[in-house]
Amino acid sequence: MTDVIISNGRIIDGSGAPAFEGSVLVQDGKIEAVGAVADQKAAKLPGLKRIDASGQTVMPGLIDTHCHLSFDDAGSNSEIFFQRRNGLSALIASYNARKLLRAGVTGLLDPDSTFENMIDLRDAIDANIVEGPRMSCGAYALITGVGGTAGRLIADEGVTGYYMPVNNKDEIVQEVRRQIKYGADWIKVHVTGIIPRQAHKGELCVWTMDELKLICDTAHDLHTPVMGHCRGAEATKKAAEAGFDLIFHATAMDDDALQAVIDRKIPIAPALTFQYNMVEFGKKIGTSDNLMALFERELTESIETMTIAHKEGVPLLTGSESGFSLVPYGDWHYREMEVFVKYFGLSPLEAIQCATQKSAFGIKMEGEVGVIAPGYRADIICVTGKVEEDLSILGNPDNITTVMIDGVEKDLSSPPKRKPIQGWRLASIGKQKLTREVAYGEAQAPEPPHIEELH
Ligand SMILES: [Zn+2]
Repeated sequence: MTDVIISNGRIIDGSGAPAFEGSVLVQDGKIEAVGAVADQKAAKLPGLKRIDASGQTVMPGLIDTHCHLSFDDAGSNSEIFFQRRNGLSALIASYNARKLLRAGVTGLLDPDSTFENMIDLRDAIDANIVEGPRMSCGAYALITGVGGTAGRLIADEGVTGYYMPVNNKDEIVQEVRRQIKYGADWIKVHVTGIIPRQAHKGELCVWTMDELKLICDTAHDLHTPVMGHCRGAEATKKAAEAGFDLIFHATAMDDDALQAVIDRKIPIAPALTFQYNMVEFGKKIGTSDNLMALFERELTESIETMTIAHKEGVPLLTGSESGFSLVPYGDWHYREMEVFVKYFGLSPLEAIQCATQKSAFGIKMEGEVGVIAPGYRADIICVTGKVEEDLSILGNPDNITTVMIDGVEKDLSSPPKRKPIQGWRLASIGKQKLTREVAYGEAQAPEPPHIEELH
């Protein structure tokens, strides 16, 4: 292992503290010293590799706590459920993992995957077979017979895509233990689902309190945390009270739900990059005004509760929801920080702290990564420019000059260009029906996708 000194950079240490000029000394994969002490120690180490970070920000690598590496930028659940192949989706995920590295992501939490094959990718990365960020992962997402957010597309029993229905308490216990046996770091639960005939009510809590507690008790007995997809107040409150360790989305909380989260300081990963992309760029992909307004509401309705949660000390973690075509791998992992700044009133330095120090919780490495300070593992990136003045700098891989994990520099060259794979994407004849009005009248905007059925 090469020891390294990174000098002449501006350091953002990930703790929320302001940037400062200085050097970082990395030895044996860990941060040995920061600032003047680093230079003094380095002077006595003649064989050191030197990285000149002039004009650059030196900061902890980003941690994305909501990224589905096996979904491969899917545009629909059908594609994930019915067109993915086990081995191939794992191989493609390893290709996509390199895009995350190039985007400065050194850690990710993959909540659920097709064939639960991200457990294999994680092990391959750990074993240096494949280069990618550190991974922590769930297996299949647990759902009730109601069918998660995809209703009838989900089989009543057995796996569909990334979902596993559990239809009674025995099955809950059996499946939680099975996932842990096969290597899940987390148990993922879809606490809310869409009931087709009640879809106008949005996602509803589809578990009883007893069932949610049973999941938590079974997992916790085996030292495994539980994370829940929760939209709406009831689900968030129940999940918090049942003992969930991490809550995704947590949109539309009421006072009780908010209080339940605050009392327990349960980290929230809102994963609103998806919505933000839709609001800002929906027009460019032919989305209707109605759908854009719906997504904007989900963002704005979260402002008050998320702002309070943050002020009350609830950790907000960053998650991109990459895996879907609206948030392609490598492009948007930094963007949740922009959501936190624009909508929830965080300063850029606070948002960076969320994406680094706080999100380390998502990969179970709190206190080990996510901060540039002596004793931490050297998961460090160097970025051209002043990141805290413009977070979007992180969106251009050309600005990311160095990415290291455990002090080892990663290959940031572009992967070879992909070609299509037969049967991999959901094919359609066209974006819209060729009615006579479309044929001879004024062209209509394409039908928007049914986004509410995704993730
Ligand atoms: Zn998701």
